[in-house]
Amino acid sequence: MGAQHPPASQPIALYVHVPFCETKCNYCDFNTYAHLESLIPDYVAAVAAELGAWGRALGGPPATTVFLGGGTPSWTPVAALERMLNEARRAFPFAPDCEVTAEANPGDVTGERLDGWRKAGINRISIGIQSFDDGLLRLLTRRHTAAEAEQAYRTARAGGFDNVNLDLMYGLPGQSLATWRSTLEHAIGLDPPHLSLYALTVEEATPLWRDIEAGRVPRPDPDLAADMYILAEESLAAAGYRHYEISNWAKEGRECRHNLVYWRNEPFLGIGPGAHSYLDGRRFWNIRSPGEYVRRLLEGTPAVAASPPTTPVVEEARNLTERERFAESIILKLRLDEGVELASLTAGPSGLRGDLHLSALRECVGLGLVSLSEGRFRLNQRGRLLSNEVFVRLLPE
Ligand code: SF4
Repeated sequence: MGAQHPPASQPIALYVHVPFCETKCNYCDFNTYAHLESLIPDYVAAVAAELGAWGRALGGPPATTVFLGGGTPSWTPVAALERMLNEARRAFPFAPDCEVTAEANPGDVTGERLDGWRKAGINRISIGIQSFDDGLLRLLTRRHTAAEAEQAYRTARAGGFDNVNLDLMYGLPGQSLATWRSTLEHAIGLDPPHLSLYALTVEEATPLWRDIEAGRVPRPDPDLAADMYILAEESLAAAGYRHYEISNWAKEGRECRHNLVYWRNEPFLGIGPGAHSYLDGRRFWNIRSPGEYVRRLLEGTPAVAASPPTTPVVEEARNLTERERFAESIILKLRLDEGVELASLTAGPSGLRGDLHLSALRECVGLGLVSLSEGRFRLNQRGRLLSNEVFVRLLPE
């Protein structure tokens, strides 16, 4: 497969990684760091260099969505975020209705910062609430209380941000169904336009994993986590939310447009250490070390090598075969409530390719994981709980 740049007119979604955190939470294995603030000025310059190089190489297509993720963008100085967004805008002119999201920790959501974020162009905030239970917040070594979490949401809304997501976690050590119900009710009572709910994954070698292994913290119960998911589905449906993706719920028209790009297998460019990209059937990702990222980008003027497209910070790249692209696209679309059109599997240039997936999906229907109605395959509740059972059957051998 030829690795050519998309035409300049093809819009793009941008992810910009902001790897700074005030402290490191005990369950987190993201590529984020505490006590790295001294790197921020050089980091911003490196992000500007990477953005500029890609902007020139791709011919400056418009950005339809931008996501500042981390890390804790909200804790990073507003001026640094503003400069990164200005550089992004210079390299990829923002579409008039561009969705610009920043992740925020409750303690950082102040009136002053909100003003700065708005002026910088941010129009959507995703707040890491995680729980409205103070005991669980302490267990997760979060830096906020339930009262501060609620205050953050109210401050954001009062500050003019009407597009706000709340992140919540379930399946936590020692969390009961009653505690989870109360967190859900608390969240629903605030009426946020969007909710993302994630089951805790205990990542190896994190402090929480060590505490669980040593018996100091109870091991989460996966069956209870499944009950919590079902409770969330029922409660949020009753409150008028559309369950549009396995872990995401939104009020009408408030789906996260940036994440929809991932699930629809559309092109996106990731900027920053460890960031992943998908352009023209090619997946590639950057080196993880922020220090090395800065060093390589500030050494000279980075250029994007023409073919295949790459920069000095790309660690690895993979050209997907047509079969892999097709399989990935089916798996990603199945995460969405719109599912996969039956016709898309029977039509197309390679009947055999679609037939293989068709028989895998029919097998999943037989296993009670997928439903077929109105000409579409969709995960049912059991399928959403056991989605890997479905996805593994769709992967190319
Ligand atoms: S604030 Fe978020 S990114 Fe930072 S350490 Fe905690 S969970 Fe990880």
